[in-house]
Amino acid sequence: MSSRTGSSVLQRAYEDFNDRYFGGKLPRYRVEVVDRVSSARESGEVNRRAKLIRIQRNLLNVMRETLIHEMAHVRTNDFHGPRWKAEVQRLLQLGAPISPDELSRAPAVTREMVAGVASNLLCDRPGASFRDFVCWIADQHLCMSPAQALRRFPWIRRVYREAQEDSGTA
Ligand SMILES: [Zn+2]
Repeated sequence: MSSRTGSSVLQRAYEDFNDRYFGGKLPRYRVEVVDRVSSARESGEVNRRAKLIRIQRNLLNVMRETLIHEMAHVRTNDFHGPRWKAEVQRLLQLGAPISPDELSRAPAVTREMVAGVASNLLCDRPGASFRDFVCWIADQHLCMSPAQALRRFPWIRRVYREAQEDSGTA
């Protein structure tokens, strides 16, 4: 299958899944099949700024599962935490082609993930302070209080500063 065919098949699958499992409410994303995505642990990735989903080339069934996984990220956040898992649960109940094994994924809070969340926030709200960021990531992504988030992940301060520098808002 050429990459163009793969991409257009997956693009149609995005629109079909959006209608079938998300009430057509997900924003319009472009879907691209690529040889390799940037994270070694994932087989797909979401770029919210570019409204783009990249899926690593594989068998069509596997790519469709990856697509649903990424669509659950689009609907929730970039982590495999409680909000994302609740979304996967909802999709399983609707009979979406996604494996129940997804629910046992560790909710990895990595530097890469936090940096992605920071740059998404700075894209939407260029003046957001570190305090704004902590409150937002704690509530939306980590499901804990800002104080807990800072205690468990003290390094997020540095990641946020780097994201501010990258985006020219420091
Ligand atoms: Zn994921």
